[in-house]
Amino acid sequence: MTADNTNSSRVFLFMKGKSDGNKKMKQLLGGKGANLCEMGRCGVNIPPGLTITTDVCQEFYKVGCNLPPGLMDEVRDALSEVENNMGKKFGDKSNPLLVSVRSGAAISMPGMMDTVLNVGLNDKIVVGLSELVNERFAFDCYRRLLQMFGDVVLGIDHELFEHEITSIKKRTGVKFDVELTSKDLKELVNAYKEVYAKNGKEFPQDPWEQLRMGIDAVFRSWNIPRAVKYRELNKITSLKGTAVNVQAMVYGNYNDNSGTGVLFTRNPANGENELFGEFLINAQGEDVVAGIRTPMPISLMKNSMPLIYEELYNTVKMLETHMKDMQDTEFTIQDGRLFMLQTRNGKRTGNAALRIAIDLVNEGLVTKDEAILMVEPRHLDQLLHPMFENEKAYQKDVLAKGLAASPGAAVGRLVFDADTAESWKARGENVILCRQETSPEDVGGMHAAEGILTSRGGMTSHAAVVARGWGRPCVCGCEQLLVDVKEKTLKIGDVILREGDWVSINGTTGEVISGQKPVKKPSLTGDLGTFMEWVDARRKLKVLTNADTPEDALVAISNGAEGIGLCRTEHMFFSTPQRIAAVRRMIAAVELESPAVKEALDELREYQRQDFEGIFRVMKGKSVTIRLLDPPLHEFLPHEGIALQKLCNQIATELKVSADDVQKRLLGLNESNPMMGLRGCRLGIVHPEITVMQTKAILQAALNVEKEGIHVHPHIMIPLVGIEDELLNQEQLVRSAANEILENSETKVEYQVGTMIEVPRGALRAGDLAKTAEFFSFGTNDLTQLSMGISRDDAQAKFLTYYQKHGILVSDPFDTLDTLGVGELVRIAVERGRKTRPDLDIGVCGEHGGDPASIAFFNSIGLNYVSCSPLRVPIARLAAAQAAIQN
Ligand code: ADP
Ligand code: MG
Ligand code: MG
Repeated sequence: MTADNTNSSRVFLFMKGKSDGNKKMKQLLGGKGANLCEMGRCGVNIPPGLTITTDVCQEFYKVGCNLPPGLMDEVRDALSEVENNMGKKFGDKSNPLLVSVRSGAAISMPGMMDTVLNVGLNDKIVVGLSELVNERFAFDCYRRLLQMFGDVVLGIDHELFEHEITSIKKRTGVKFDVELTSKDLKELVNAYKEVYAKNGKEFPQDPWEQLRMGIDAVFRSWNIPRAVKYRELNKITSLKGTAVNVQAMVYGNYNDNSGTGVLFTRNPANGENELFGEFLINAQGEDVVAGIRTPMPISLMKNSMPLIYEELYNTVKMLETHMKDMQDTEFTIQDGRLFMLQTRNGKRTGNAALRIAIDLVNEGLVTKDEAILMVEPRHLDQLLHPMFENEKAYQKDVLAKGLAASPGAAVGRLVFDADTAESWKARGENVILCRQETSPEDVGGMHAAEGILTSRGGMTSHAAVVARGWGRPCVCGCEQLLVDVKEKTLKIGDVILREGDWVSINGTTGEVISGQKPVKKPSLTGDLGTFMEWVDARRKLKVLTNADTPEDALVAISNGAEGIGLCRTEHMFFSTPQRIAAVRRMIAAVELESPAVKEALDELREYQRQDFEGIFRVMKGKSVTIRLLDPPLHEFLPHEGIALQKLCNQIATELKVSADDVQKRLLGLNESNPMMGLRGCRLGIVHPEITVMQTKAILQAALNVEKEGIHVHPHIMIPLVGIEDELLNQEQLVRSAANEILENSETKVEYQVGTMIEVPRGALRAGDLAKTAEFFSFGTNDLTQLSMGISRDDAQAKFLTYYQKHGILVSDPFDTLDTLGVGELVRIAVERGRKTRPDLDIGVCGEHGGDPASIAFFNSIGLNYVSCSPLRVPIARLAAAQAAIQN
């Protein structure tokens, strides 16, 4: 097998000093397999084993969930090398090799898929192992095998096994599994066999059959509901499947000089450079995570096993240096000998990601570019998430304190199960999910919750790991809490909280607080400020913002926006009752060709001038792109009949016409396809007075602010252009209206006229449009809608979700730009536009301007800027830098 470790191989070996694969082969070998190979190459002490590739997983599903022919022969061949290395034989009675069968995809999905330990034992071999080591150990392994095999491979409810072990512990009066004697464990083995029999299942005595079934089950676990759900929530697509690792067992349950643990090379919650982990004496892998006994912090090992501690420390630090990132490792100690079982880049909170990236640069381990790539956009998102305004002020309401498992402030109403969390969230409620401990079945509710609270489990419990991955604040292991999931109550001393009660949790301190405590947004200073400086130095794309008010603009500037890429004039119309009334009067007057139209327009112009002045002032010389009126006019009218009737009556009196007439005209504005109707530049073409009014308001405001000594760079943007003459028409209107304002003034205003590209025809005719337009801004929402023929407003519920679930589309094209189709139009428009006007300023102002994957595309085709909502600005800056580095 080692002779031909080409990519067509289905089985790869890993062992100390000799591995077929390496860390770069995660797609094929899964993360676990690839890194086991890498550890072997680095001379780390790992139990030897073999990896069956993810290609085989694909084959497995292609042929209706069957192991491909010949695979088990290859496994046998590879396993014989493992046997030689270990000096034991699989299936042998006197000196048996036992193995684990472990899942492992290219992207880690902790606890989502299945693993079986101690495969290779049966009624006879357990006797041999008893003679070789001792009876207690041998039967401890056997009961573990029976339990895991029954649960994972044969689908017997694990509660049934739990029940047996609990009742034996009760009967013998012991608290922990480790206290069970060999006699107890033998009894337990028999009880487990009863469970098999009651469920009509049989435990296969043939070790090779166990192995075959184990491999089969791990491949199947790729598609169990919780794993599918996890991939859905984390938007993990494009994976081939899971690999399967068959690895020689090492025994943390060998004796009291043995144990098992998990270890991070740095603190995954805050990034501090200290070992962070937990271990259990005399235990096997799963015990740590399952919360069977409360594990000990790794620091205690320094005293109890100083030599092993030192070896462990050196090993994981070596791995960190080699992998150039913080590592999350698993280890087992068998009778004083250390074995590493897994290493991977550790999941971390936003806080930790930032701290680690900066520290690793300072330690000389990574370059600034590498550090920029280590902080994910979602980390930044977390860092910008709220914290409590004042931690001192709420002290009197602190109910309890648990482990600070994942930092941040979360405020919500208490719920006790995942389904409720999801359904309450769906109706817009913020919830805190409270459980004794969480399990992979709860991930949907955990994702829906603002924060997670548990009464059991340590810093590496399921709740803690998952919460950190998503940046959800989490307080876990809060032992003062009495959680009653059935009664839906939470007792803390004499306080009783019920479902729906408000609580606040502080994942940075571990505090559980009653009521809703005020939160605040963190600022971009300190470490974050330093990091963002690195980011800005590296990116090519400018980052502007979509903002309609001075307040939004200020937020965006504090987040680093370099200008406004989209200011939607119509949003200003809704800001006060007077304004919307004026807009409605204007619409009616326009429609009725009433002489009152001038008055109505003058009133609006005045409002708009004030608004633009406000924005120009806060932007202090940064460019502001203003889009002329875009939505269909009926959007400004009341939707229900009575309100419309009232409006018509009122307007009729004001304009001195009949109410019927008004109503007829206003109802006439309705269209069956308003998104493709009288809107965008079409409005300004049919009603030029609107364009003139808006232009004058913009230029007058610019002039006034220029006179205050603040530079103003208005960019007037014509929406929804598909035809060259549409643009020409509007451009001439704009320029002549602007001239009227500017011609008699000493003060100059430099303004530009450009267009949105959001109609496919406009993208194709970009060469023509660029003759007139001084800039382009892609309105990718409409462009997507119109080029794919998908309505943004309805499609999600009707079929987009279905499409994604069935892989027809990998993502929602309104979230992430469809680069193949819509992106092609964008690319064509850039090319043709720049051919006409090489210095054409081009950006994007649709939602996609804040989406990292889309930003990478915009970077690659040479746009000048992206514009996104104020809160996304830091994320867009980071995504732009990452795109520039990776390009
Ligand atoms: P997961 O991906 O859920 O962590 P793993 O495959 O890593 O699943 O295994 C589960 C537990 O069993 C881990 O704690 C791991 O360290 C332990 N384990 C796996 N294989 C072995 C082995 N060969 N010897 C000892 N412990 C093992
Ligand atoms: Mg693991
Ligand atoms: Mg549009």
